[in-house]
Amino acid sequence: MTINGREYFMDIHLEDAVLGPEMNRIHFDTIERSIDIAKSNKFREKPFKILTLFINKTKPEVLTIGQHLGVPFKKTWSCTATHDNTHCGKCAACHSRKREFEKYGINDPTIYLH
Ligand SMILES: [Zn+2]
Repeated sequence: MTINGREYFMDIHLEDAVLGPEMNRIHFDTIERSIDIAKSNKFREKPFKILTLFINKTKPEVLTIGQHLGVPFKKTWSCTATHDNTHCGKCAACHSRKREFEKYGINDPTIYLH
């Protein structure tokens, strides 16, 4: 999700770090720096930022924060297999989503195909 064209929000959390080196803060810092170097003078007054607010939070911590803030979980997205309006229910991200909602006793309003 972009915010005002200068900030990009990445919804990654601590468990995502095991997915590869592209999921750590050093990588995002490098991208920010590269974009700032490549920008034209017109846009240099404010640096480009990749916000990783949950990078040091576990998935249960993110869910708890979301529940506390009243996040409409039905409108959140996890599936990596489809980008339609319905989660597939079979990919690793969907399995993780189902498991975490169930594990922490949070109602999962997600509609899954499988
Ligand atoms: Zn899926």
